[in-house]
Amino acid sequence: MQITPNGQEPIVSPRVPVAEEKLNILGLDRAELKQAIAEIGVPEKQVRMRTTQVWHWVYHRGVTSFDDMTNVSKDVRAKLAEHFIIKRPEIVEAQYSEDGTRKYLVRFSDGNEAEAVYIPEEDRGTLCVSSQVGCTLNCKFCHTGTMRLVRNLTAGEIVAQMMIARDDLGEWENPTEGRRVTNIVMMGMGEPLYNFDNVKKALEIIMDEEGIQLSRRRITLSTSGVVPHMERCGKEIGVNLAVSLHAVRDDVRSEIMPINKKYGLEEVLKACANYPGAHNARRITFEYAMLKGVNDSDADARELVRLIRKYKLPAKVNLIPFNPWPGTDYECTDWNQIQRFSDIVYEGGISAPIRTPRGRDIMAACGQLKSASEKKSKAQMAREAEAAAANDTVAEPHHTSTGLT
Ligand code: SAH
Ligand code: SF4
Repeated sequence: MQITPNGQEPIVSPRVPVAEEKLNILGLDRAELKQAIAEIGVPEKQVRMRTTQVWHWVYHRGVTSFDDMTNVSKDVRAKLAEHFIIKRPEIVEAQYSEDGTRKYLVRFSDGNEAEAVYIPEEDRGTLCVSSQVGCTLNCKFCHTGTMRLVRNLTAGEIVAQMMIARDDLGEWENPTEGRRVTNIVMMGMGEPLYNFDNVKKALEIIMDEEGIQLSRRRITLSTSGVVPHMERCGKEIGVNLAVSLHAVRDDVRSEIMPINKKYGLEEVLKACANYPGAHNARRITFEYAMLKGVNDSDADARELVRLIRKYKLPAKVNLIPFNPWPGTDYECTDWNQIQRFSDIVYEGGISAPIRTPRGRDIMAACGQLKSASEKKSKAQMAREAEAAAANDTVAEPHHTSTGLT
């Protein structure tokens, strides 16, 4: 079942793009790939082996042409090419920051766009992946929340962000050594738990041991606190959890994150305490954007410590200096106060590093992602926030028939 904010059928791209006759196999899971290969008339005895081979070429070697699958017999290769394609979405724009950060604007077959960001550090390279075009949740400080168009990304579109980054980084040549994308964070555009099935499928493909082989320990999913699906995330996907907290009182949190009216602070924290596999070796990360005069007082820091202790949470806090974007009402807390806040939380026995903003020069930092899509009007935002509160549901996705093109 797909999860949508309003419980309706989600709108997703058809598996076979309308304009193309051939099936894009990127994003099929193994069982689907096997079935597809069986259906095109590959001899039954060979189906298993061919599936393994194709999977390896697509996900371990990154090939995009069946001709390159040299251990597959010529006639089978021809059959595959007759029915299938291995196609990435288009990179509309790749921006490289002075600090090594790379931002990709990706356009899917229906014209919708999303962003992925690659952030190199000394000991790792993290790819920040989007799960939706836009986001229905309209957190007030987040640029993505102002996008008018929202739809779930398919599993293929989520996996494709990884493929594109690896293409750009030249990573396929030597898949195990010299890996450049070592970690994934589902922290791009969208709320991943509102697109649970596709995110799960995509991450399973990415974790597959005969494919991209990224360990679940190196994958973090960030949620704004969609309580009913948090446990499923731990049980069914098993990745690390990050929770966007951003406030320690319900009134403040509801003001900046409308979803708090549905799933309040205490409920979110309880769900964290019950997160499968949450123990010291695998702590939950709380994200906390520092908003001047809103959530950044000493008392807020002390309350944060109290709450984490109250629920006995194996947690660390990531303090994110607020990243301003054109038209925002918020400002970032002064550096001294961020430091003070961090110290208070540390003194409470909880690690609270301050996240260094990366890729600011290319607007790639946290919460700045927003493709060229039209902006929601203020009235639209207000209506959605109201709907979220009144109907006990979060706002519905918006679609236009024209897409973005
Ligand atoms: N929708 C998910 C994941 C994507 S957002 C979520 O909300 O958790 C990744 C992180 O960046 C979240 O913690 C989000 O709240 C934070 N963020 C959004 N806008 C920001 C901004 N302008 N400055 C700093 N952090 C921001
Ligand atoms: Fe959506 Fe996350 Fe941005 Fe909130 S912070 S609007 S949940 S992407």
